[in-house]
Amino acid sequence: MIENKLQIILKLKQELADFPRNGKAYECLKIMCDDSIDTLESNNDAEVTFTRWKLKAKYCGIKVANETDPKELQKWIDDKKMNILLRRIIEAEHQPFHALGYIPIIKTNETKGGKGNEKLYWLDIKEQEIEHFDETAISEYDKSDALIKKQFVTYHRSAPSMIKISWLYQIFFKKGEMRNRSLSGIFLIFVIFLSLVFWLLYMIVIALILDPLGKNFTSFNLIILLLVIFSTWLLWKYRFIPIMNLPEHRVIKAPSNFLAFSELDAEIEMFRDNEKNQITRFTRFTATCPICTAGIVLRDGKPDQNAPLVGRCVESPFSHVYSFDRITMKGKYLGA
Ligand SMILES: [Zn+2]
Repeated sequence: MIENKLQIILKLKQELADFPRNGKAYECLKIMCDDSIDTLESNNDAEVTFTRWKLKAKYCGIKVANETDPKELQKWIDDKKMNILLRRIIEAEHQPFHALGYIPIIKTNETKGGKGNEKLYWLDIKEQEIEHFDETAISEYDKSDALIKKQFVTYHRSAPSMIKISWLYQIFFKKGEMRNRSLSGIFLIFVIFLSLVFWLLYMIVIALILDPLGKNFTSFNLIILLLVIFSTWLLWKYRFIPIMNLPEHRVIKAPSNFLAFSELDAEIEMFRDNEKNQITRFTRFTATCPICTAGIVLRDGKPDQNAPLVGRCVESPFSHVYSFDRITMKGKYLGA
């Protein structure tokens, strides 16, 4: 049993790492996972229980947990929120626990709480029920249910370390992540700014050499000048504008020079961590098209949609279109 439990919780830890999410339930599950694994690995089958205070202390620090009003603490997290997230993980398309036969579950002691009677939470496992369908019971209801399911998609976020970044940006993004206010964050902004200044100087030098107003200005010089103007426009539109949009849009398509040659598609996301630090990370948002089961990737919303980024089916990019919400990780059918 202990081996089984360890195996399931290790699998959960891996799922949490591979598909990062934002929010308390996600962070609390991670904390519970790590502590339970430590205990199980030392061959101890005892339940590793957590009070709300203990979870808050691990999440925000002991000082913050002590300062939190007990009533506030009760609202802060409960087993329901964590079990909802667990269910989403268990029901993910790749069915992570299917082969193992067991699924993780948050258990709690049935107490109403109060002094000396604190509610405890712990991670446990239970056998995965195999759902038996009664063929005759597939009714109109199920058909309409299938129709409703086509209206929504659930996105997955890839772990930042899975994205192959170009060697230059690997210096700034350790394991695909960077704190904006860190030394490397400030250095990166400096490098981007400097490259802009250099490009400007380069343009001025080219203009001076070619001397467009002088007598020796040939049509060959004109072609060079137009090429330089065209590449400046490309750089501006596809490199600088997206990066400048990042703080406001929170997710942008990663410009190709940020990625390794073998990496075709990725996003850059900016978010706040528990300590309110702004973090920039590489990731990839994907989903499965509920209409045709092909992959859904984030693409520009223009020209047919208003949002800057939408989920587009790779097989039918202009008909199977879904909205994208990085907080709920859900999308709604937008149609053609
Ligand atoms: Zn599709």
